[in-house]
Amino acid sequence: MKSAADTQSVIEALTHQHPDADTELHYRNAFELLAATILSAQATDAGVNKATPALFARFPDARALADAPAGEVERLIHSTGFFRQKAKSLMGMSRALVEHHGGEVPRTMEALVKLPGVGRKTANVVLGHALGVPGLPVDRHVLRVSNRLGVADSDDPERVEQQLTGALPPALWTRASDTLILHGRRVCKPEPLCSQCAAADACDFHAEASRLAGPAPSGGAKRRKAKPAGPATRPATRRRR
Ligand code: SF4
Repeated sequence: MKSAADTQSVIEALTHQHPDADTELHYRNAFELLAATILSAQATDAGVNKATPALFARFPDARALADAPAGEVERLIHSTGFFRQKAKSLMGMSRALVEHHGGEVPRTMEALVKLPGVGRKTANVVLGHALGVPGLPVDRHVLRVSNRLGVADSDDPERVEQQLTGALPPALWTRASDTLILHGRRVCKPEPLCSQCAAADACDFHAEASRLAGPAPSGGAKRRKAKPAGPATRPATRRRR
């Protein structure tokens, strides 16, 4: 795994490649971002952004959503999928905010993860984007890209969060997560577009894939492309015949 200095330099290169990296969820305050992030599970940010204006117009804060009729909430968020479970989480989260936090979103990881429907990833999104508290959300894109680059070496999101936050200064945590997410969506997809990657020279996956592909044959014959390991994070190994 890379040193802290090398990790910072890789993240810096990707930050230059994606200067617009930020959460794509629309929100006006911490409560709205918390609700939108809960809704974003198994849904696209664009899909959530279509549903939330009507939801927040009807139920603008935790007190309103805590007492909302379940059927109405379900109807408003239906398009985001898993609407029954999500409505339950939204209303449970709102009730907990009212009962334990005066209707406000707490500013600590410890308190946030006690709310119904809120895990570390959601808590870090809200801390980092809406509350000004350093947080590094780890989603499937961060997992895939950071392991390929060699700035992390685990499939466990919490472990990867520890590895990245251990290597980067707190002021860079949220931006690093946004950058890795965007890189995973645009470039380092399951089938990665390494020729378009600003960090290719430092990437473990790319180095290994190039090694497996071997030197380009002479005489104009096409070199066989090394097959990446799909959604997994390691390069494919050569199959024995
Ligand atoms: S070089 Fe390829 S595998 Fe490595 S981070 Fe860039 S796109 Fe992903």
